[in-house]
Amino acid sequence: TDRQPKYKRILLKLSGEALMGGEEFGIDPRVLDRMALEIGQLIGIGVQVGMVIGGGNLFRGAALSAAGMDRVTGDHMGMLATVMNALAMRDALERSNIATRVMSAIPMSGVVDHYDRRAALRFLTSGDVVIFSAGTGNPFFTTDSAACLRGIEVDADLVIKATKVDGVYDSDPVKNPSAVKYDSLSYDEVLDRKLGVMDLTAICLVRDHQMPLRVFNMNKPGALLNLVLGGNEGTLVRG
Ligand code: UDP
Repeated sequence: TDRQPKYKRILLKLSGEALMGGEEFGIDPRVLDRMALEIGQLIGIGVQVGMVIGGGNLFRGAALSAAGMDRVTGDHMGMLATVMNALAMRDALERSNIATRVMSAIPMSGVVDHYDRRAALRFLTSGDVVIFSAGTGNPFFTTDSAACLRGIEVDADLVIKATKVDGVYDSDPVKNPSAVKYDSLSYDEVLDRKLGVMDLTAICLVRDHQMPLRVFNMNKPGALLNLVLGGNEGTLVRG
């Protein structure tokens, strides 16, 4: 393509569940390889890519806590799960010859770099994919909040949330066939209508910093490239 990207630097959020693909648990390598291909197309047109990956395919603190575990311990396990997913994603990206750095909010010397914003900016500027792992490093937060936080910190032009549906609907499109999709929404509409795009902490962060957010269907081939080129994929949330 000879079209110019609309966004110079993006922060892409993938849920842990997205990595499961057709599996019941864990990581489906085919999903990683397909994401590596799509991310490679962005790098190829000069887009700087930061990523946050969830951990819900492995552990979630809230679920562990519901089963009787101490919540903070469960959240620590959830954050470690995101590091495992980040390592798997890095592996797939590097097999596709895409230079990738993993940073962790929790220091893990010898495995990944400790999160350092200035170093992350240097890596992004030089064209490396940077995967921000271990969420925010704090219990009681989510990787959606981590994605918004890192997106704001590294001054991304857009936070992109990859989902299994084609954007934000007025009701669950899987359960309700007449659900209507929104092309765009304001932060306050998301909050007032309790649309559950991301948790409240994440939405408040992007609202307070006027960081635009786009929700799109990661199972639609080419959608990521199209939206970075300015195409109208999914739903845009902005001020
Ligand atoms: N987590 C946390 N603090 C953070 C981010 C994540 O404690 O800043 C924990 C939390 O237990 C969460 C788990 O890590 O359930 C996995 O993250 P998340 O649920 O956001 O993953 P996703 O739903 O995107 O797969």
